[in-house]
Amino acid sequence: MSEATEAIRIPEDLLPRDGRFGSGPSKVRPEAVAALAEAAPTYLGTSHRAATVRFMVAALRNGVSELLSLPDGYEVVLGNGGTTAFWDAATFHLIERRSQHLSFGEFSSKFAACAKAAPHLEDPEVIESPPGTAPEAKATPDVDAYCLTHNETSTGVAVTPRRPEGAEGLVLVDGTSAAGGLRLDASQVDAYYFAPQKALASDGGLWIAALSPAAVERIERIKRDGRWCPPFLDLGIALENSRKDQTYNTPALATIFLAVQQLEWIIHNGGLPFAVARCDRSAEIIYSWAEASDYATPFVADPALRSHVVATIDLDESIDAKQVSAVLRDNFVVDTESYRKLGRNQLRIALYPAIDPEDVEALTHCIDYVVERLRG
Ligand SMILES: *Cc1c(COP(=O)(O)O)cnc(C)c1O
Repeated sequence: MSEATEAIRIPEDLLPRDGRFGSGPSKVRPEAVAALAEAAPTYLGTSHRAATVRFMVAALRNGVSELLSLPDGYEVVLGNGGTTAFWDAATFHLIERRSQHLSFGEFSSKFAACAKAAPHLEDPEVIESPPGTAPEAKATPDVDAYCLTHNETSTGVAVTPRRPEGAEGLVLVDGTSAAGGLRLDASQVDAYYFAPQKALASDGGLWIAALSPAAVERIERIKRDGRWCPPFLDLGIALENSRKDQTYNTPALATIFLAVQQLEWIIHNGGLPFAVARCDRSAEIIYSWAEASDYATPFVADPALRSHVVATIDLDESIDAKQVSAVLRDNFVVDTESYRKLGRNQLRIALYPAIDPEDVEALTHCIDYVVERLRG
């Protein structure tokens, strides 16, 4: 960083109360961390097969079910390895022969690549669209699993998960950065899976999936048919363990605890509508600021596709977005850098439920302050 940027000190009264705007891992509420510290002596460092931890896993499963208003018969399953591990697991027990993938950013393209590489599956049908847009799913006769991403964290595009018209087969939705922040009609999906270090304000390493009866049936059938699967990725084993409020191998107990804290915070405040309203408010603040600004523009052209949990804001070429993020970081306002592989002159700002809309407002003033100084 040059001396000029190092010298930029944002006045105290402009700064947000909490300067964490990263899209993942994302802000964990201090109250949740304090609760963990308080519970630690009887919780951390105790057996994940004993009642204390199993009670917490049960609270996580019930909390997800309540948060997402899951229809009768849906089951909440969890395992280790985060969303990336769940993609591999899905290639074994949720995709029967051929999947369709909507590919419109880094994360959606990665799942498509997993399915393509799996030797026991046919090549997937991949429907692509450029970053900043979203493709449409369509019913295809030989496709048995439709794979969508609720919020493409790398580009800031959000879609409404729905069964493609006339489609038979399961609908598998990556809700990693959406779960707990965006509206969901769970009856439209058969597997809604995520990791809790994004909208759920916990830490990484875990995957959580809400599975419909049809998804559970498919897992059990593929297992009966004898398809080989590494036990670590075996969704049948994960299902059996989850039903006993356990995981196949040792989970991160702090991650589970923090996720439960966030679920309970949202539920006590009114449930998903409360969380969605906070994100809607933050989105309104950031996008209207960008639209009014003479140097910032929302990257996603179609307002209907603009994510209310991750905002991507392009800056005019005359301003170096990397430098803006660096100055912000120097002032303890962190992780506003754009997704590295997108390669744009851009800021990426998380608007998750844990992030106060007032802090998003404060961030816009900080960005204006920094840009004014950089322009000289
Ligand atoms: C972060 C992210 C992932 C990867 O999650 P991990 O837990 O790191 O494996 C997958 N999909 C989406 C949409 C994400 O935002």
